[in-house]
Amino acid sequence: MKYDFEMDLDEQSSVGIIAAQIKPGSKVLEFRPGNGRLTKHLIGAKNCQVSIVELDKELFDFVSEFSQDGFYGDISNQTVKGFCSICNKESRVTLFMRKTRTTSDGQYTKKGDYICFDSTVCNQQISDLSYFYHFLNKIQ
Ligand SMILES: [Zn+2]
Repeated sequence: MKYDFEMDLDEQSSVGIIAAQIKPGSKVLEFRPGNGRLTKHLIGAKNCQVSIVELDKELFDFVSEFSQDGFYGDISNQTVKGFCSICNKESRVTLFMRKTRTTSDGQYTKKGDYICFDSTVCNQQISDLSYFYHFLNKIQ
């Protein structure tokens, strides 16, 4: 498993600080959950509903086994200044392309929208999940 590390839930760690701020039973969007340790913690210990957006296929397949909802896609390396479709704040954004395998010959269709290039910034800026659900509807 790549990016494997022991999650440090200590209040001093960044993940611990994020975890401590999430109320039990919350609906949570986790952007780029990595190996899903925080995802597991939020679902298991905090009884949260967690939706994920991941850019790495292997990690997406792994984490989407236990997250409630999720999307897999690509981002471009080019960033522009604009509004993010997930957090609805102005920041450096990049085009997120959702990949869906729809045809029998293995072709992918892509639907995209702009999201924060820096997932940590995005996670910190999310204050209203309704934009995220709008984003999900748009790329579905
Ligand atoms: Zn954002």
